Amino acid sequence: MLDQVFRPCVIGGLTVPHRIVMGAMHLNLETLDDGGAALAAFYTERVRGGAGLIVTGGSAVDPAGSGGPGYGVLDDEKHRSALRLAARAVHDAGGLIALQLFHAGRYALPGTPGADGAAPLAPSPVYSRFSRTVPRTMTEEQITGTVAAFARGAEGAYELGFDAVEVMGSEGYLINQFTAPLTNRRDDAWGGDAGRRRRFPVEVLRAVRAAVGPGFPVLFRMSGADLVDDGTPWEETAALAVELAGAGADALAVGVGWHESPVPTVQAQVPAGTWAVYAQRVKRALRAAGHGTVPVIASNRFNRLAQAEEVLAGGDVDLVAMARPFLADPAIVDKSRTGSSTSVDLCLACNEACIDRSFGTERVSCLVNPRAGHEREFPARPSPAPRGRYAVIGAGLAGLEAARTLARLGHEVEVYEAADEPGGQFRLAALVPGKADFAATVRQREQELDHLNVPVYLGHRIGARDVPVLRTMDGVVLATGVRPHRPDLPGIDLPHVLDYARAFADPGALGPRVAIIGGGGIAIDLAHLLTSGSSPALTPEEFLASRAMTAPPEAVPMSRTTAAPAGGSRQLTVMRRSGRIGTGIGPSTRWVVMEELRARGVRLLTDVTYEEITRDGVVVVETGGERRLVAADHVVLATGQESRREVAAVLHRAGVPFEAAGGAADARSLNAVRATAQGLRAAHRI
Ligand code: SF4
Repeated sequence: MLDQVFRPCVIGGLTVPHRIVMGAMHLNLETLDDGGAALAAFYTERVRGGAGLIVTGGSAVDPAGSGGPGYGVLDDEKHRSALRLAARAVHDAGGLIALQLFHAGRYALPGTPGADGAAPLAPSPVYSRFSRTVPRTMTEEQITGTVAAFARGAEGAYELGFDAVEVMGSEGYLINQFTAPLTNRRDDAWGGDAGRRRRFPVEVLRAVRAAVGPGFPVLFRMSGADLVDDGTPWEETAALAVELAGAGADALAVGVGWHESPVPTVQAQVPAGTWAVYAQRVKRALRAAGHGTVPVIASNRFNRLAQAEEVLAGGDVDLVAMARPFLADPAIVDKSRTGSSTSVDLCLACNEACIDRSFGTERVSCLVNPRAGHEREFPARPSPAPRGRYAVIGAGLAGLEAARTLARLGHEVEVYEAADEPGGQFRLAALVPGKADFAATVRQREQELDHLNVPVYLGHRIGARDVPVLRTMDGVVLATGVRPHRPDLPGIDLPHVLDYARAFADPGALGPRVAIIGGGGIAIDLAHLLTSGSSPALTPEEFLASRAMTAPPEAVPMSRTTAAPAGGSRQLTVMRRSGRIGTGIGPSTRWVVMEELRARGVRLLTDVTYEEITRDGVVVVETGGERRLVAADHVVLATGQESRREVAAVLHRAGVPFEAAGGAADARSLNAVRATAQGLRAAHRI
């Protein structure tokens, strides 16, 4: 039951239909040369799936505050037209939309339009590891000019037809840079003590309020915890919340963490709901100061409405913002409302197609929903083409995506899978601690295909006998996947050498000393599995404790050295011939998993030449020419993959045309994002 979720809430006179806010996401659709059509289609589909109040990705109030080349700037008429179209489309679909007013400050990335090659602006010239720049100190004139720019942005939002604005004051962007002692080293009217550090956010809010008047809802996203050394202390955070409420904020959304935080906040390793505690504390601070009626919105790391329900039931939070879950499933709200929550495509917190892309210019999408960001290209409605009959060979991620897409388009589909269960290599990831939700993706596909009346024939290896049936089909998608690559190495046939798939299948069978040859994403996942012992996933409290953190208001020591504890005692070595260990894992996640492996004592060797595998381990030569034995009871090969070609050969011989997707198309640097995207495209192309 989601009784708390499905209650309306009033924010500054605006009645939102339920307690889930679709949080801001930068999509790289904002500045496409399409008049805003893709952006409008993206938001519209979410409204049709039950989204109530949507907050847009940040629109820069000033060119110097743009987050990067794909960010929209409110001074730009083209961007304004796109926003106007998006707001109208959301309203036509029955939704509500708030424009996020944004200034990146020292997080403005190279290539930021309007920066003209100049360093970003910030309260003080403190180097940023994120933008890799030392920003320029803002002058008094630039500060007051920026306050005015926020006010103009709010006016613009009103004129463009938005229902509300959200002022972006968290996650380490400009406003947050003013509140944190780390980045505000001023000693003038805008810094020097707690009150002066709070002046900028409060002045921005006052200016915005004055610009739009009392009847237009203004949300303020503030930082509940900066999670950086010398970040905003809790008592200053609480005081800021109270001042913002007093200055006319209609709701406070509480974000957590900066891009430079040494603590992961949105990665799969973070237990769901971990950060709600900060929003709860903000609400209590407001209540204590007589501002308890101001709604507080919790955010970061929720992927199920049931989690939101739990937090809302606690009474200290009024709404819950979710962002990525709306990429993964535009209909998460409606599906959860009707009780079919298992049919929801869950966000896996992998960040591979969303956050990692948002730092560049590639269109944001989603591993489990490759239509995200491409709604116009791949419409969800049944195809006007005559109903056809299609076969999909292979039920890994690519095949499952192709099958459900064809069925959604209204075609008759049959799926053939050689293994006894669907999911292919994706099932391996589900075994890794912290990735249990990956299994839900496969279950969701099974359920959806069942609902779409698509038979999935498991244990059916396609051969020549199937050709007559395949010939009757209107098309065939070949998604037979990959098998582990077996390198040509002396000693490879020794009995203690096995491939990664076997190691995943029975990690308990491996001895206390394991050497993994290969250092890509699969090797890293396996290393986590082999060193995690039998420890279950952490609870939010255990996660915070493992980072030497306690719930606020205590000080939060930011040590890089803390990480999730090891649950096993295996001695593990991961080696790679060249390059970095863990390439292929996105930048927002790689540092977290590498930190965990180091904390567990995993030895990481790069730039080695493998000489031979012996009964005692792997003999390697290091860059300096030193030859040494990496002792191991078992040697696991994680040296890439190769396409399974047997069925392709059968089809070729029989002259049956097919469309290949996923590993069957190309095994090189295959990943799940590419597999699902290819499955989708193959279904539309065939
Ligand atoms: Fe979630 Fe991964 Fe999709 Fe991003 S790409 S929305 S993290 S499942």
